[in-house]
Amino acid sequence: MIKIERNETPKVEHYSTSLVQESLKKDFFRKCYICEEVTRHFEVDHFYPKNYYPHLVNDYKNLFYCCQKCNKIKPKVINTHSENEILNCCEIDPSEYIKLKLNINACKVDVTQIHTNDILEYQIKETIKLLNRVYNGENSQSTSCADLKDDIKEKMEEFGKKLDKYQTTKLKNAIVEEIKKELTIESSYVTFKRWIIRDNPKLNATFGNYF
Ligand SMILES: [Zn+2]
Repeated sequence: MIKIERNETPKVEHYSTSLVQESLKKDFFRKCYICEEVTRHFEVDHFYPKNYYPHLVNDYKNLFYCCQKCNKIKPKVINTHSENEILNCCEIDPSEYIKLKLNINACKVDVTQIHTNDILEYQIKETIKLLNRVYNGENSQSTSCADLKDDIKEKMEEFGKKLDKYQTTKLKNAIVEEIKKELTIESSYVTFKRWIIRDNPKLNATFGNYF
C-alpha cells in the first residue's frame, strides 16, 4: 500500500461514470490501492462503504481504484466502525508503519509493523490483517493470493536482476535510470522494491533519495 496524492477533481454525478474512472486511473496510476498490482481490470471501491455512509457515495475522496480480486477479498465490515478502519493511503503513508517483504523460502509476504502510533494503532493493525488476507490468504477462502505472489515474485526477480547488473557493470548510467523508474510510484509493487533498497545500506545510499 502506497501513499497516493489526488490531483484530479472531477465533478462526480455518479461514482460509476467514465469521468470518475478516468480520474481514478490517473490518480492511482492504474494501481490497486491495496495490493499495488498495475491492472486495467478495476472496480471503484468505496473506502467508507456506501450503505453505511450514503452521504459519501459520490464523494470523489471516498472512491478508490481497486482490483477485482482485492475488492472481492476485502471484508465488507472494513471501515464500517472506528475499530475496523484501515489506513487511508490518500492521507497517511502506510509504509511509515508497515514493511512488506516477499519471503521466497516461506512462499509468503512478510507484513511487519515497524512503528507504533497511539492514534492510528487500530488502523495499522486492521491494515496488516487485510494485507495478510490479500497476500497470504489468511482467513480467506480465496486462492487469488497464489497468483498475486507469483506476479510479485516475477517482478522482484526482474528488479533483482537490474540491481545485480548495477552492482557488476562499469557503465552504470543506463541501469541507474532503469532502477529509478522502478522506484517511482507508478511502478507495480513499489513498496516491496523500496524496502529492498532500504534494507541494503549500499543501495540505499545511492537510491534512497529517489523516493
Ligand atoms: Zn488488489
